Amino acid sequence: MSNAEHAASAHETLHRETIAVHAGRPPRTPDAPLSTPVHLASTFVAGGPVAYGRYGNPSWDAFEEALGALEGGRCVSFASGIAAIAAVFDLVPTGGVVVAPRHSYTGTIGQLNDLAASRGVTVRFIDVRDTQGIADAAAGADLVWIESPTNPALEVADLTAIGRAARDAGALFAVDNTFATPLLQRPLEVGAHFSVHSATKAISGHSDVVMGAVVAADDELRARIVARRSLNGAIPAPLESFLALRGLRTLPVRLERAQATAQALVTRLEGHPRIEEVRYPGFGTIISIVVRGSVEEVERFADSTRVWVHATSLGGVESTLERRRRWPAEAETIPEGLVRLSVGLEHVDDLARDLERALDALA
Ligand SMILES: *Cc1c(COP(=O)(O)O)cnc(C)c1O
Repeated sequence: MSNAEHAASAHETLHRETIAVHAGRPPRTPDAPLSTPVHLASTFVAGGPVAYGRYGNPSWDAFEEALGALEGGRCVSFASGIAAIAAVFDLVPTGGVVVAPRHSYTGTIGQLNDLAASRGVTVRFIDVRDTQGIADAAAGADLVWIESPTNPALEVADLTAIGRAARDAGALFAVDNTFATPLLQRPLEVGAHFSVHSATKAISGHSDVVMGAVVAADDELRARIVARRSLNGAIPAPLESFLALRGLRTLPVRLERAQATAQALVTRLEGHPRIEEVRYPGFGTIISIVVRGSVEEVERFADSTRVWVHATSLGGVESTLERRRRWPAEAETIPEGLVRLSVGLEHVDDLARDLERALDALA
């Protein structure tokens, strides 16, 4: 049993808040630092299992041990969320079949389209809420890929039922768990082979890191993902690994506060005359609102907030908002007026008043 595995089993009896704080620390020997340092190293003295900086780094190990312990699996870190997703898609054979949500992160859709064009992969696009449709589509599939809640439509999938159907069909089952985080949803517990993250978002949490991770259900699956990382070289930097782990330490408390604020905002925004629809799955820190008005008006709204920052990405301590259809790659079934709100840690009244003022200014 490796150190990380041993630590993971020792953590099983602890609560997630405690795991987030304690996993991935150096051994408690006199004068040892409490945090794993940033190991800036391209090469290592011969004779050990790592040997070279593309194959391993102690700063990755610390982050991987912590996220793996939170998800209940074996983590592999990557240079970005999209690199992590690519590593899972690499497991699909040429000419294979993937089941995937029609509303997914735009980069994921881009990769699926590329797989279809360059490797003859058939992609069966589904609605993540349509469990029976997914079960039907899983027949003969190599991979069932689910994102839940979806970005930015915020549809929620029944992962337990889909996991059963995917396994019955003999397909790999992977979940993009970026929006829920391992604190709100643990796909490996309901049969997923992989839980995938853009660690850029809530895990890092401070809008200063781009990183990703695949958490595999067992060592054999982890080895297949490590092989993709070593072959393709989409490795995280040691400094980013350090920062992502530092962010992870406070994820439970950040999430708790931002989620409470999001829930309060939903109540305040519902019924605003300029808002056609408020979409919120009931948990998490992301809200999508559909603003009434022309594209120009909705863009003006997004530009005129003073507390909320008009910027892409999500999961930071600072609240951000964005009209998603400003990206040409966003699905055409996402309304032109849909604005995705990422709720941060500012005071709820400041956030609510800022949105209301910017919406009222449109009238
Ligand atoms: C941002 C995001 C990604 C891509 O991650 P990067 O770190 O930007 O490469 C994948 N999935 C979801 C749901 C995301 O929000």
